[in-house]
Amino acid sequence: MRIFLPVVRQKKGEACQYSFQGKIKDYFDPGADDDSSFAVTVNVRSVGDKIIIEGNFQAEIEATCCRCLCSFRQQLNSDFNEVFTLTPLLDKASTPEDLALETANQLTVSGDYLYLNEYLRQLFYLSQVYNPLCKPDCRGLCAGCGADLNRNACSCEDEAQIDLRLLKLKEFQSRNQA
Ligand SMILES: [Zn+2]
Ligand SMILES: [Zn+2]
Repeated sequence: MRIFLPVVRQKKGEACQYSFQGKIKDYFDPGADDDSSFAVTVNVRSVGDKIIIEGNFQAEIEATCCRCLCSFRQQLNSDFNEVFTLTPLLDKASTPEDLALETANQLTVSGDYLYLNEYLRQLFYLSQVYNPLCKPDCRGLCAGCGADLNRNACSCEDEAQIDLRLLKLKEFQSRNQA
């Protein structure tokens, strides 16, 4: 995913629009499943020694619900905008990977191409929710018997929701009653 900057510069500040799409496993995470994919649209402008990008990143990935541990398809959607500063190409031997890293980590661009792979890879990881939920009101697994409470009620459900301190009190009461 690279953008040829001389074309952008010719537009003198007007935006050029680009789009990229592909599989997550080919670009960001070799361990991702076959169906996980992404699409990016990005507007690129050149102003002075700056390259300004604005875009949207969407992906669909396989995720595991942090409450009930089921697998589900999660949608990711994030807008991004960034300003990169043009810097002279110091080392002619820089590989596209080097340049992509420099662009992502130092927000600089050198040479004729803006390489976005690493920038978008980082965006992909940042756009993932730390604790994904299969649905906002997922009821999770019973701490007592492990039943999936989205599907089944279980007999220990009431017990599991009692605060631990109250549980101690209950034990104490039943001991005293005995
Ligand atoms: Zn869930
Ligand atoms: Zn239970």
